[in-house]
Order: sequence, then structure tokens, then C-alpha cells
Amino acid sequence: MRLQGKVAIVTGGGSGIGRGICIRFAEEGADIVVADIDEEGAEQTAALVGELGRQAVTVIADVSKRDEVKRLLSDALARFGTFDILCNNAGILRWGSIIDASEEDWDRVMDVNLKGSYLGSWHAGPEMERSGGGSIINLASIIGLVGYPAGIGGGFNPYAPSKGGVVQLTRNLAVDLASKGVRVNCICPGYVTTNLTRGLTQDPETLARLEGLHPMGRLGRPEEIAQAALFLASDESSYVTGAPLVVDGGYTAQ
Ligand code: NAD
Repeated sequence: MRLQGKVAIVTGGGSGIGRGICIRFAEEGADIVVADIDEEGAEQTAALVGELGRQAVTVIADVSKRDEVKRLLSDALARFGTFDILCNNAGILRWGSIIDASEEDWDRVMDVNLKGSYLGSWHAGPEMERSGGGSIINLASIIGLVGYPAGIGGGFNPYAPSKGGVVQLTRNLAVDLASKGVRVNCICPGYVTTNLTRGLTQDPETLARLEGLHPMGRLGRPEEIAQAALFLASDESSYVTGAPLVVDGGYTAQ
């Protein structure tokens, strides 16, 4: 058991990669705080964690709202007394063209993807320092490292600058918190089959094109991203901080 006795908070834990992370962490002995704006999804994940014999609580919180993030962390402390791992996983995207893109879409994507990771880390960092250390894992993306391929989606998407920001936020926080026993890393997945990518993958032609862009010839699975998160959460990565861990079937190696 690689996370025995640990407590993990996973935002966006009600679906896709976040759910995969909750399950993988629970399999390794962690108790889980499943945070999401989707109550039904969060409850389903908590039930799956319970079936693995671990404790799970759900907290309905919007990661873009400071007060809700503060409440999320204080609920976690009230329930478990401490937390060791924060996975800033909640994320959204908005396709469009730069011609008709709205400022509201820009703000919302930045608020959830980038500010949400900042708010979680801002509140969790001092608590982790006080309790002797911890691991913060941000979900960035290959789209935080390279641009979108031409012709995929709608052209412009504030997701790309938001995820580039998450990579740099990770480095910035890692240096700031290194002496305090808190490691901060991010994962940069290639395309993974989840609700987030459904708009692309349900079209057979777009799916085939996406698969072809990954040298391994397929999209990733949530559990494959969860394995990377497990490494970053566990003591096996004790000397790893500030790293973007690329998990993309070779996408960015080309
Ligand atoms: P998903 O849509 O399946 O799950 C995202 C979850 O986040 C949902 O349960 C949703 O309700 C929740 N959420 C959305 N906004 C929220 C908010 N404001 N506060 C709290 N919860 C909120 O998506 P996914 O594919 O599992 O993505 C998880 C993370 O991985 C995201 O950060 C995403 O950008 C990143 N990622 C995904 C892919 C991919 O191809 N699926 C690739 C690279 C990175």
C-alpha cells in the first residue's frame, strides 16, 4: 500500500481522470475527499471508494471561488484532521473562434483551470507545511506545452493559455514551497477518453485523427493518468518537485 494512512483531496473527482485518481489512491490505502460541483458524480465516486474499503466524503465546491475552496479544505480537516495530498484536477474548456470568442468564456476557463489551482494551493500549502509536508498535483495538459493541432475543435480555446499557466504555476509554487516540505508537480496528459473530450471523440473522423496524432495510436485512459498521479503523491517521488510529468502516448515527443 503506497498511500496507507494518507488523506487526499481530489477536485473534479466526480468524473473522468479525477474519478480514476480517487479510485487508484483508495486502492493504495488513502481516504479521499471528493470535491466537485456535480453532486451526483461526486457521490458515485465516493461510493466506489467505499467499495474499496476506504473512507470518502464529498464536498460540493466550485474551485474558482475562494470561499468555497476555503470551506473545502476546512471540511477535509474537520473530517480527517489532516490532508497529505491535494490534486487540483477540476478543469473545463470552451471551444470557439478568436473572432467570436467571449470574454466570459476566457474568464471562466481561467478561473476554473488556473485560478482554481492557485486557490487550492494557496490554502493547502500552509496547512501541509504545518502538518509536516505534502504533495500538490496539478492537472495541466500537453496543451500547456504545445499548441492545438490545426483543425481540431473550434480553433481558439482559452484552455491552452490556462494550461500553460498551470505548468508555470507549478514551477513557481514548487520553488516557493520546497523548503517547507511541500512538493508541487503537474501532469500533462495527451488526449484521454472522458466527458471533457466527448465532443471530439464522438465524431469517428476526429477520433481517428486524434488517435493518429499519438504515436501509440490511441487515446489515454483515466487510470493511466491516475498511475502518474500515484507516483507524484507517494514517497517514490520524494525528490521530484516542479516537474511537468508528460503522459501522452508519445504526442509531444514528435
Ligand atoms: P471531466 O469533464 O470528465 O471531469 C472534470 C470534473 O471537474 C467534472 O466532474 C466537473 O463537474 C468538475 N468541475 C468542473 N468545473 C468545476 C469547478 N468549477 N469546481 C469543481 N469541480 C468542477 O474532465 P477530465 O477529462 O477528467 O479532466 C480532468 C482534468 O484533466 C482537467 O483539468 C483537464 O483539463 C485535464 N486534462 C484532460 C485531458 C483529456 O483529454 N481528458 C487531457 C489533458 C488534461
